[in-house]
Amino acid sequence: MSKNKGTIGVTSDNIFPVIKKFLYSDHEIFLREMVSNAVDAVQKLKTIAQSGNFDGELGELKVEIKLDEKKKTLTISDNGIGMTADEIERYINQIAFSGATDFLDKYKDNPNAIIGHFGLGFYSAFMVSEQVEIFTKSYKNEPAQHWTCDGSPEFTLEETKKETRGTDIILHIDDDNKEFLENQRIAAMLHKYCKFLPISIVFGKKKEWKDGNEVETEQDNVINNTAPAWTKKPADLKDEDYSAFYQELYPYSEEPLFNIHLNVDFPFNLTGILYFPKIKNNIEIQKNKIQLYCNQVFVTDSVEGIVPDFLTLLHGVLDSPDIPLNVSRSYLQSDQNVKKISSHITKKVADRLQEIFKNDRKQFEEKWDALKIFIIYGMLTDEKFYERATDFTLLKNSDGKTFTFAEYKELIKGEQTDKNGTLTYLYANSLDEQHVYIEAAKAKGYDVLLLDGQLDNHWVSQLEQKFEKSHFVRVDSDIPEKLIQKKDEEKPALSPEQQDALTTIFSSQIPQIEKTEFLVTTENFGENAQPIVITQNEFMRRMKDMSANGGNPMMSFYGEMPDSYNLVLNLSHPLIKNVLDEQKTALSSEISPLVSQVSDLEKQRKELSDKHAKLKDDEVPVAEKEQKNALDKQITEINGKKREIYANFASSKDNVKQLIDLALLAGNLLKGKALAEFVKRSVELLER
Ligand code: ADP
Repeated sequence: MSKNKGTIGVTSDNIFPVIKKFLYSDHEIFLREMVSNAVDAVQKLKTIAQSGNFDGELGELKVEIKLDEKKKTLTISDNGIGMTADEIERYINQIAFSGATDFLDKYKDNPNAIIGHFGLGFYSAFMVSEQVEIFTKSYKNEPAQHWTCDGSPEFTLEETKKETRGTDIILHIDDDNKEFLENQRIAAMLHKYCKFLPISIVFGKKKEWKDGNEVETEQDNVINNTAPAWTKKPADLKDEDYSAFYQELYPYSEEPLFNIHLNVDFPFNLTGILYFPKIKNNIEIQKNKIQLYCNQVFVTDSVEGIVPDFLTLLHGVLDSPDIPLNVSRSYLQSDQNVKKISSHITKKVADRLQEIFKNDRKQFEEKWDALKIFIIYGMLTDEKFYERATDFTLLKNSDGKTFTFAEYKELIKGEQTDKNGTLTYLYANSLDEQHVYIEAAKAKGYDVLLLDGQLDNHWVSQLEQKFEKSHFVRVDSDIPEKLIQKKDEEKPALSPEQQDALTTIFSSQIPQIEKTEFLVTTENFGENAQPIVITQNEFMRRMKDMSANGGNPMMSFYGEMPDSYNLVLNLSHPLIKNVLDEQKTALSSEISPLVSQVSDLEKQRKELSDKHAKLKDDEVPVAEKEQKNALDKQITEINGKKREIYANFASSKDNVKQLIDLALLAGNLLKGKALAEFVKRSVELLER
């Protein structure tokens, strides 16, 4: 037997340190590389046999991983094609490094650029080994070979005795990487990278429980499923198979909503099964992530940048030989192939949803609540997806009925088009909290959407931009009459004094609520409507909602501001009319003189102002300036007195307080002490 010594075909002496340090940030992938090579060798043999160029016994084709803690070795054995001396020379000594040489030359000053950019396959063994040996016997019936290399560019190659066909790669694990001599660690790595490889991977023997002890059996412990569901034809799979595969990927998980089996072979190769999982109203950090495979070899489960953002919420597997394996993330994200794949997946997902919607709308509607978070997230983040999704995205109303965009528009366009021809979509965020408002809007013949999802605030803004001549208004943002303005407002028929009386009486009795302000206004909205309604301006509320959701720092400005509501008095309501009449009877003798006093003073003031308007500031006599100030003071004083009289009157009127509290209650604003007082007062009123 001749012994062949040589130098590995690489000019740069420091390739091994480079491999060790920089090539992969993740050392454990060496095992993936070794096992994939072994699987390839077996598959090549299968192919050769199928084409009739191998007439030996194939035997039971498999790859075996063995640990020897004493000898500190990890061995990967296969019974594939093996290598001849010549092939070792070509594939191990030369080829593997030919590309690397150029690469290292190019990047020798920037080792970081090397990280993950270049796959050296077999040589990744040196990341964890002080010495690597190959024992191999080719199917071609040539002498078996023994190759060794200790991590320097020198290797030895000699003939050896090996009876069986195939290759054993023996890694002498170095002291820095002892973890790879632990059974558990290797088992976990095999489970991660190899669980769906197409050839049986054997790691030790199966164990079973006997007389309270775990004992090894004679049976090989095969760690993988060689034919996972995604490699099969969709036509050959039933619903149960998809469910079973989901459990195989993510044991003990809740049943997913839908699956999408991808099977593309042009213009690139892509297979996989994606699942829409059940997540409720909350985009939680998902532990069950999409797994990316390359020919059934696990690559990664952080697919951000590879699949569209919103699909990272899905579960399942993607397998594509066209996604480059050993490259860095930034490289992947800019890769044209990857981009194409990404937009293709989006299209497929949309197509599939469309198909389910068309074929089984009932099921689609039933699952809508769970599904909508994906679809809405997709619409918000992916323009193309938005367009595709407009046909099957559903709007749900407060009665739980669902409509497509087109159907809903048809439903509301009669009643909910305002005087400018703008279509008004009314919505609520909570059936409970906005119940009174929803009912009031419905009583007017309007339909109210329920938009109570986490993303719905953003979605509303998007839909408003996309829908032509439309806007969205929350049901409690105005009194029912004004939610959709059909004709120009009629001004309430009140004298300024009556207006002043009413607003002062009511505002003086609003309970203190922290960080909340109320503005009392008056409207005519029919005697059958509520006497008082609390509304919150749509724009302000949206700004506050957005600031509460974090996001834009500009928004924190709105977050700091108190919540401001309108307390709208219904002048047509008998109870409000009552208050107006009561105060007149009770107070007019007191108020009337004050009113005429103010009116006099204001007249005098106006005369002065008119006179001064023609003069420059320094031409105004000082005495007149002082007179004006004195008038202002008097007016303020008398007005203050008036307010006091109104407030005094109001504080004795339980009906005023009761009306305010009822409105606050309907608007979910009556809490704490104010609520307790309301309850107490109500009981007292009943006792009268
Ligand atoms: P790649 O697998 O990307 O071609 P590698 O460095 O992993 O690169 O392997 C180089 C070559 O060495 C392989 O293409 C193959 O021809 C050969 N080889 C590696 N491992 C084995 C093995 N277990 N059996 C047969 N040939 C192998």
